[in-house]
Amino acid sequence: MLDSLFRPKSVAVIGASTKELSIGNRVIRNLVDFGFKGPIFPINPKADEVRGVKAYKSILDAPDNIDVVHMVIPAKFVPQAVEDCGKKGVKNIIINSGGFSEIGPEGEVYEKDFMVRAKNYGIRVLGPNCQGIINSDPDIRAYCNFTFTKPDIGHISIVALSGGVAEVIHQGFSSMGVGTRIYASNGNACDITIPEIIQYLGDDDGTRVIVTYVEGLRDPATFMKVAREVAAKKPILAMKAGRTTEGAKAAASHTGGLAKEDLATDLIFKKAGVLTFMDEGELIQAAVAFATQPIPKGNRIGLITNTGGPAVIATDILVGAGLAIPPLSEKTETFLKAELFPEASVNNPVDVLATGNASHYRACMDAMIADDNYDALYINFVTPFFVDTDSIAKEIAAVNQQAEKPMVCNLMTDKNEWTETVRILKQGGVPSFSLPGEAARAMTALVRYNDIRSRKIGQPDIFKDVDTSRAKGILEKASSGTGFLPAEDVYQILEAYKISTADWRMATSAESAVKAARELGYPVVVKADAASIVHKSDMGGVAVNLPDESAVQTAVTAMEKRFDAPDLKFFVQKYHEGGMEVILGAKAEPGLGHLIMFGMGGIYVEVLQDVVFNLTPVTRFEAEEMLGAIRLSPLLKGVRGEKGVYQAGIVETIQRLSQLVSDFPEIQELDLNPTLAFENRIVVVDARIGLK
Ligand code: ADP
Ligand code: MG
Repeated sequence: MLDSLFRPKSVAVIGASTKELSIGNRVIRNLVDFGFKGPIFPINPKADEVRGVKAYKSILDAPDNIDVVHMVIPAKFVPQAVEDCGKKGVKNIIINSGGFSEIGPEGEVYEKDFMVRAKNYGIRVLGPNCQGIINSDPDIRAYCNFTFTKPDIGHISIVALSGGVAEVIHQGFSSMGVGTRIYASNGNACDITIPEIIQYLGDDDGTRVIVTYVEGLRDPATFMKVAREVAAKKPILAMKAGRTTEGAKAAASHTGGLAKEDLATDLIFKKAGVLTFMDEGELIQAAVAFATQPIPKGNRIGLITNTGGPAVIATDILVGAGLAIPPLSEKTETFLKAELFPEASVNNPVDVLATGNASHYRACMDAMIADDNYDALYINFVTPFFVDTDSIAKEIAAVNQQAEKPMVCNLMTDKNEWTETVRILKQGGVPSFSLPGEAARAMTALVRYNDIRSRKIGQPDIFKDVDTSRAKGILEKASSGTGFLPAEDVYQILEAYKISTADWRMATSAESAVKAARELGYPVVVKADAASIVHKSDMGGVAVNLPDESAVQTAVTAMEKRFDAPDLKFFVQKYHEGGMEVILGAKAEPGLGHLIMFGMGGIYVEVLQDVVFNLTPVTRFEAEEMLGAIRLSPLLKGVRGEKGVYQAGIVETIQRLSQLVSDFPEIQELDLNPTLAFENRIVVVDARIGLK
């Protein structure tokens, strides 16, 4: 679909300028300098040529079949220019100019105007207010962009709304001497979207890894769908910025508050299989490894070094990230003892010593690749003046070319002096970094990606035993009102979805409360129930562990005095002694379904904020993952000989909750706090449902 944009056969520039320091000049220069394979048509009513290229007075005078037109003219002239392009049969327009929706309503008028015209003629628009695209494919060489980084041919493609970040990332690759494939920055994105570009890159054979930067997703559902499809074919590495305001939001004690501002983006990335980064440097370095390396099959790393300290640093980082540094197999050890210097350290890391030569490195690499104890290799390579470092580089490059196991190399050298060594590694596609931490983190990313890829999240279980129509009836009746549902409605909805709750009765007076308690059996709990009472216990609306009639009477009388709500009722509930308090919750996420929350309940929620989230629909695999992901998970599993809680029950409740809110999108928020987890059962003892 976007082929004519990314592989243009001809490019025109409306607003081509003879002024050196202008975008209208720079775009022509970039196209020429980068060796664009097709004709370039500068459009300028006053000039005969721009940068030596013949110019045309109007787009209508230029030759036909133009794939891409740049517009570098004031916003108010853009609608007419788009109209002209339509008449000319232009396929794509890159609008570099700003002054559209990003400046407010007056600019938005022009954006709407030109979009109507573009749609009319079936023209696709990149931007406005954007940099454009670059394609380093030797057949194309399209530099439809006003930036300055001239990429080598490579396999990494970059896409971002923000031109500033896209360019910084691009620079990062360039300064590491790593090439890129396609670059796209789409600014206001009023037509061509990020998901559409990702889809295109997914189909582009020259793209091995896709790097993207987002601050939030405009159309999360489409992003999720596309990213999922593409991530199944090739790695997508993403960085999301704008995290800090979330931290503050996490302080609140309810699902709504705990669901941090843009938590959904991270969850979408996770569900879609996108690898996320918190740091742009790390993202760049990881992409360099992904561009040439196979994905490791596991997390066991073999280290080879010719200097001690850097191997220690790397070990710390790898182990800290959960990777393993297994010992050498007996065979490898025996072999290397014979091959290396007697003083060499034959362990993992293997230290070949600074005097170690090419055949030593080669012996280590071959042995560790053959050794089943390792999934990948980490190499430290300092370049002492007294060894033949070019030969070492050749061996590393040769082993890398075999591509049997992934490798990263921390090359510690003076790049200006050891130019040939550097060149050999680069030519051989060895991902080379300048610090042990950088190489180790790139390796960590490869392993992390393997973990993501091997997550088989499966399909959500659909519970057939639920009574959807009963829940529907209750919700329909309640939906006339807004806010929170009365307790009896909430508990009946949970019952309809077979989410196990403590037995309960509704009462309106001390007398009926006593009757209810008798039916339930002592001990019981009495809770004040009225629309105005939200945090019941804070307001003195919860009396637990009531052993007999007189205790129930006293509790109800006290609550009658305390609350003068006209709709005051008493929720009488079976008291369940002990159990571990966990919290489950759901919160509507527009366009995406719901966030599902699970964590430690009671005081833990507020103090530790030990909660995790997922997006509906939550599968069994994901529910189990959630259970294991909280910090206090070991408590649920049982520590020091204590029996754990009924985890299967929690997993099932998470899934039933996911099904309930998926069936009823009108549920805005739902809290089961606390849910008591016992050795062999789960009981919800407090529940709230809020509607739109
Ligand atoms: P709220 O959250 O509105 O303050 P809850 O209904 O959650 O009120 O009650 C407060 C606390 O009382 C709960 O966190 C739990 O520790 C305890 N509790 C409430 N109901 C029961 C019950 N049925 N069995 C055991 N403990 C309960
Ligand atoms: Mg509660």
